[in-house]
Amino acid sequence: MERASLYEYLSRISRLLMAEERSGREALPAVQMAALHYLNRCNRYSDTPASVADYLAATKGTVSQTLRALENKGLIERHADANDGRVVHLAPTRAGKQLLRAEIPPPAFRAAEAELGNDDRDQLRELLETLLRGMQRSGQISSFGVCRTCSHFRRLGENRFQCGLTEERLTPADSEKICREHAAYATGAND
Ligand code: SF4
Repeated sequence: MERASLYEYLSRISRLLMAEERSGREALPAVQMAALHYLNRCNRYSDTPASVADYLAATKGTVSQTLRALENKGLIERHADANDGRVVHLAPTRAGKQLLRAEIPPPAFRAAEAELGNDDRDQLRELLETLLRGMQRSGQISSFGVCRTCSHFRRLGENRFQCGLTEERLTPADSEKICREHAAYATGAND
């Protein structure tokens, strides 16, 4: 019997994940869940409506409706930038974070993932990351990678980091966030 292609596996998994997310107790429409999840993972340079639109590859109109709906449900809040009042930053509220903890990842995914050993899980994550980066490169899409894997990331000492692009200090929590300015190393991740 012919084996399914990688594309078929990923496509099926992605549909199952979306169906599971829709059936959750506190389910949101998929685009709202994706935007809320993104805002919980991104750093302070990436929490604007335009960044949400880029990350989701969605139109500004769709994202604006999505963000309004999340705000009306009390799941995100906005605040003005300290230096530029025209710039809006967004963040999940306590209720938004609670919803994410309850719903993401969905139970069937958690159970299937738990059946993989640590080594398999790490290897799968690396392979999927490589695949994602390849797609982003060919589509010239921002990588939105994790900060500590960025070529601008500098280690100043024990738990002391700096962004080489903005020269601002980064906390250990910042280093685990995703960033729209992330620049991948030419030859792969740095650690
Ligand atoms: S080091 Fe890279 S990923 Fe981290 S904040 Fe700076 S530009 Fe963004």
